[in-house]
Amino acid sequence: MEILRTENLCKTYGSGEYAVHAVNNVSLSVEKGEFVAIVGASGSGKSTLMHLIGGVDHPTSGKIFVDGHNIGAMNADKLAIFRRRQIGIVYQFYNLIPILTAEENIMLPWNLDGRAKDENRLNELLNALNISDKRKCLPNELSGGQQQRVSIARAMINHPALLLCDEPTGNLDSKATEDIMHILRLANRDFHQTIVMITHNLEIAKDADRIIRIQDGKIEEV
Ligand code: ADP
Ligand code: MG
Repeated sequence: MEILRTENLCKTYGSGEYAVHAVNNVSLSVEKGEFVAIVGASGSGKSTLMHLIGGVDHPTSGKIFVDGHNIGAMNADKLAIFRRRQIGIVYQFYNLIPILTAEENIMLPWNLDGRAKDENRLNELLNALNISDKRKCLPNELSGGQQQRVSIARAMINHPALLLCDEPTGNLDSKATEDIMHILRLANRDFHQTIVMITHNLEIAKDADRIIRIQDGKIEEV
Protein backbone atom coordinates (compact mmCIF):
# COMPACT_ATOMS: atom_id res chain seq x y z
CA MET A 1 0.00 0.00 0.00
CA GLU A 2 1.30 3.40 -0.99
CA ILE A 3 1.74 5.84 1.90
CA LEU A 4 3.52 8.70 0.11
CA ARG A 5 3.41 9.91 -3.46
CA THR A 6 4.78 13.08 -5.01
CA GLU A 7 3.81 14.08 -8.53
CA ASN A 8 6.04 16.41 -10.54
CA LEU A 9 7.04 18.25 -7.41
CA CYS A 10 8.92 21.53 -7.97
CA LYS A 11 10.25 24.20 -5.65
CA THR A 12 11.96 27.19 -7.21
CA TYR A 13 13.60 29.95 -5.20
CA GLY A 14 14.01 33.33 -6.85
CA SER A 15 13.22 34.00 -10.48
CA GLY A 16 14.75 34.76 -13.85
CA GLU A 17 18.46 34.22 -14.11
CA TYR A 18 18.66 33.89 -10.29
CA ALA A 19 16.14 31.05 -10.12
CA VAL A 20 17.27 28.02 -8.10
CA HIS A 21 15.34 24.85 -8.93
CA ALA A 22 15.90 23.32 -5.49
CA VAL A 23 13.42 20.50 -6.20
CA ASN A 24 12.96 19.82 -9.88
CA ASN A 25 10.08 17.65 -11.08
CA VAL A 26 10.31 14.97 -8.42
CA SER A 27 7.87 12.06 -8.66
CA LEU A 28 8.36 9.32 -6.12
CA SER A 29 6.37 6.73 -4.23
CA VAL A 30 6.92 5.11 -0.84
CA GLU A 31 5.09 2.01 0.37
CA LYS A 32 3.73 1.59 3.88
CA GLY A 33 6.40 0.00 6.09
CA GLU A 34 9.32 0.95 3.84
CA PHE A 35 12.56 2.53 5.06
CA VAL A 36 13.77 4.80 2.28
CA ALA A 37 16.94 6.90 2.24
CA ILE A 38 17.26 9.97 0.06
CA VAL A 39 20.94 10.67 -0.53
CA GLY A 40 22.61 13.67 -2.07
CA ALA A 41 25.41 16.16 -1.69
CA SER A 42 25.02 19.38 0.24
CA GLY A 43 22.78 21.77 -1.70
CA SER A 44 21.17 18.99 -3.77
CA GLY A 45 17.68 19.82 -2.45
CA LYS A 46 17.23 17.22 0.29
CA SER A 47 15.94 19.51 3.03
CA THR A 48 13.70 21.38 0.61
CA LEU A 49 12.18 18.08 -0.53
CA MET A 50 11.66 16.97 3.05
CA HIS A 51 9.96 20.24 4.00
CA LEU A 52 7.59 19.87 1.05
CA ILE A 53 6.74 16.25 1.95
CA GLY A 54 6.28 17.25 5.59
CA GLY A 55 3.88 20.06 4.70
CA VAL A 56 6.22 22.60 6.32
CA ASP A 57 6.80 24.38 2.99
CA HIS A 58 4.64 24.79 -0.12
CA PRO A 59 5.67 23.57 -3.57
CA THR A 60 5.91 25.93 -6.54
CA SER A 61 4.03 23.23 -8.45
CA GLY A 62 3.19 19.56 -8.18
CA LYS A 63 1.28 17.43 -5.68
CA ILE A 64 1.98 15.48 -2.49
CA PHE A 65 -0.25 12.69 -1.22
CA VAL A 66 0.28 11.33 2.29
CA ASP A 67 -1.83 8.25 3.04
CA GLY A 68 -4.04 9.24 0.12
CA HIS A 69 -4.57 12.82 1.31
CA ASN A 70 -3.57 15.65 -1.01
CA ILE A 71 -1.85 17.89 1.52
CA GLY A 72 -1.63 20.82 -0.90
CA ALA A 73 -5.42 20.97 -0.99
CA MET A 74 -5.76 21.34 2.81
CA ASN A 75 -6.29 24.72 4.43
CA ALA A 76 -3.75 25.84 7.03
CA ASP A 77 -5.75 24.63 10.06
CA LYS A 78 -6.46 21.22 8.60
CA LEU A 79 -2.85 20.82 7.48
CA ALA A 80 -1.54 21.72 10.95
CA ILE A 81 -3.68 19.00 12.53
CA PHE A 82 -2.81 16.49 9.80
CA ARG A 83 0.90 17.15 10.23
CA ARG A 84 0.72 16.77 13.99
CA ARG A 85 -0.99 13.38 13.71
CA GLN A 86 0.45 11.88 10.54
CA ILE A 87 3.94 13.28 10.04
CA GLY A 88 6.77 13.01 12.54
CA ILE A 89 9.90 15.04 11.82
CA VAL A 90 13.39 14.51 13.23
CA TYR A 91 16.02 17.18 12.61
CA GLN A 92 19.80 17.15 12.84
CA PHE A 93 19.79 19.43 15.88
CA TYR A 94 16.95 17.64 17.77
CA ASN A 95 14.83 20.82 18.20
CA LEU A 96 13.73 19.89 21.71
CA ILE A 97 12.11 22.51 23.94
CA PRO A 98 14.86 23.34 26.49
CA ILE A 99 12.55 24.05 29.45
CA LEU A 100 10.61 20.79 29.11
CA THR A 101 11.78 17.40 30.38
CA ALA A 102 12.36 14.50 27.99
CA GLU A 103 8.94 13.09 28.84
CA GLU A 104 7.21 16.47 28.41
CA ASN A 105 8.90 16.95 25.04
CA ILE A 106 7.71 13.52 23.91
CA MET A 107 4.14 14.24 25.07
CA LEU A 108 4.02 17.64 23.37
CA PRO A 109 2.11 16.38 20.28
CA TRP A 110 -0.59 15.00 22.60
CA ASN A 111 -0.84 18.20 24.58
CA LEU A 112 -1.08 20.31 21.43
CA ASP A 113 -3.82 17.94 20.28
CA GLY A 114 -5.70 18.18 23.60
CA ARG A 115 -5.29 14.43 24.07
CA ALA A 116 -4.95 12.52 27.31
CA LYS A 117 -1.64 10.94 28.24
CA ASP A 118 -1.37 7.32 27.12
CA GLU A 119 0.97 5.82 29.70
CA ASN A 120 1.34 2.56 27.75
CA ARG A 121 2.43 4.25 24.54
CA LEU A 122 4.81 6.53 26.42
CA ASN A 123 6.43 3.63 28.28
CA GLU A 124 6.59 1.50 25.15
CA LEU A 125 8.61 4.17 23.36
CA LEU A 126 10.77 5.13 26.36
CA ASN A 127 11.71 1.46 26.77
CA ALA A 128 12.25 0.72 23.08
CA LEU A 129 14.46 3.79 22.74
CA ASN A 130 16.26 3.03 25.99
CA ILE A 131 15.58 6.41 27.64
CA SER A 132 13.24 5.41 30.49
CA ASP A 133 15.74 6.54 33.09
CA LYS A 134 16.07 9.94 31.36
CA ARG A 135 12.38 10.84 31.32
CA LYS A 136 12.69 13.57 33.97
CA CYS A 137 15.88 15.09 32.50
CA LEU A 138 16.02 18.40 30.68
CA PRO A 139 17.58 18.33 27.19
CA ASN A 140 20.80 19.97 28.41
CA GLU A 141 21.29 17.09 30.85
CA LEU A 142 21.33 14.59 27.95
CA SER A 143 23.98 13.59 25.41
CA GLY A 144 23.40 14.32 21.72
CA GLY A 145 22.43 10.71 21.06
CA GLN A 146 19.96 10.73 23.97
CA GLN A 147 18.44 14.01 22.79
CA GLN A 148 17.99 12.55 19.33
CA ARG A 149 16.27 9.49 20.82
CA VAL A 150 13.87 11.82 22.66
CA SER A 151 13.18 13.64 19.41
CA ILE A 152 12.50 10.32 17.62
CA ALA A 153 10.09 9.31 20.41
CA ARG A 154 8.31 12.67 20.11
CA ALA A 155 8.04 12.22 16.35
CA MET A 156 6.59 8.70 16.73
CA ILE A 157 4.25 9.23 19.68
CA ASN A 158 1.12 9.74 17.54
CA HIS A 159 1.77 6.69 15.29
CA PRO A 160 2.43 8.94 12.28
CA ALA A 161 1.97 7.63 8.75
CA LEU A 162 5.45 8.95 7.96
CA LEU A 163 8.61 9.53 9.97
CA LEU A 164 10.83 12.05 8.19
CA CYS A 165 14.44 12.38 9.31
CA ASP A 166 16.74 15.12 7.99
CA GLU A 167 20.39 14.17 8.63
CA PRO A 168 19.41 12.52 11.96
CA THR A 169 23.02 11.60 12.73
CA GLY A 170 24.62 14.71 11.23
CA ASN A 171 25.62 16.08 14.62
CA LEU A 172 26.62 12.80 16.29
CA ASP A 173 29.86 10.85 16.79
CA SER A 174 30.23 7.38 15.28
CA LYS A 175 29.04 5.51 18.38
CA ALA A 176 25.88 7.64 18.74
CA THR A 177 25.34 7.42 14.97
CA GLU A 178 25.35 3.62 15.16
CA ASP A 179 22.95 3.82 18.09
CA ILE A 180 20.48 6.10 16.27
CA MET A 181 20.59 3.98 13.12
CA HIS A 182 19.87 0.91 15.25
CA ILE A 183 16.87 2.74 16.75
CA LEU A 184 15.55 3.71 13.32
CA ARG A 185 15.87 0.14 12.03
CA LEU A 186 14.08 -1.08 15.14
CA ALA A 187 11.31 1.53 14.70
CA ASN A 188 10.89 0.29 11.15
CA ARG A 189 11.02 -3.43 11.95
CA ASP A 190 9.21 -3.66 15.29
CA PHE A 191 6.87 -0.66 15.07
CA HIS A 192 6.32 -0.99 11.29
CA GLN A 193 7.13 2.70 11.05
CA THR A 194 7.48 4.02 7.51
CA ILE A 195 10.65 6.12 7.38
CA VAL A 196 12.06 8.57 4.86
CA MET A 197 15.56 9.53 5.91
CA ILE A 198 17.64 12.18 4.27
CA THR A 199 21.42 12.06 4.42
CA HIS A 200 24.57 13.04 2.56
CA ASN A 201 26.22 9.87 3.95
CA LEU A 202 25.92 6.83 1.71
CA GLU A 203 27.24 4.52 4.45
CA ILE A 204 24.27 5.41 6.66
CA ALA A 205 21.85 5.15 3.76
CA LYS A 206 22.83 1.50 3.29
CA ASP A 207 20.75 0.68 6.38
CA ALA A 208 17.59 1.57 4.43
CA ASP A 209 15.57 -0.81 2.22
CA ARG A 210 15.88 1.50 -0.76
CA ILE A 211 18.07 4.41 -1.75
CA ILE A 212 16.93 7.35 -3.86
CA ARG A 213 19.64 9.71 -5.06
CA ILE A 214 19.04 13.41 -5.50
CA GLN A 215 21.28 15.71 -7.50
CA ASP A 216 20.51 19.32 -8.42
CA GLY A 217 16.91 18.79 -7.30
CA LYS A 218 16.34 15.73 -9.51
CA ILE A 219 16.05 12.16 -8.35
CA GLU A 220 17.21 8.81 -9.57
CA GLU A 221 16.64 5.45 -7.90
CA VAL A 222 19.54 3.12 -7.15
P1 ADP B 1 20.41 20.13 1.02
O1 ADP B 1 19.50 19.92 2.17
O2 ADP B 1 20.53 18.95 0.12
O3 ADP B 1 21.77 20.63 1.45
P2 ADP B 1 18.69 22.39 0.39
O4 ADP B 1 17.34 21.80 0.12
O5 ADP B 1 18.91 23.01 1.69
O6 ADP B 1 19.79 21.27 0.08
O7 ADP B 1 19.01 23.47 -0.75
C1 ADP B 1 18.84 23.19 -2.16
C2 ADP B 1 19.16 24.44 -2.96
O8 ADP B 1 18.18 25.44 -2.73
C3 ADP B 1 20.51 25.07 -2.64
O9 ADP B 1 21.04 25.61 -3.81
C4 ADP B 1 20.13 26.16 -1.67
O10 ADP B 1 21.06 27.21 -1.71
C5 ADP B 1 18.78 26.61 -2.20
N1 ADP B 1 17.89 27.13 -1.14
C6 ADP B 1 17.43 26.44 -0.06
N2 ADP B 1 16.62 27.21 0.70
C7 ADP B 1 16.57 28.42 0.08
C8 ADP B 1 15.88 29.65 0.35
N3 ADP B 1 15.09 29.78 1.42
N4 ADP B 1 16.08 30.67 -0.51
C9 ADP B 1 16.86 30.54 -1.60
N5 ADP B 1 17.52 29.42 -1.93
C10 ADP B 1 17.39 28.36 -1.10
MG1 MG C 1 19.85 19.90 4.22
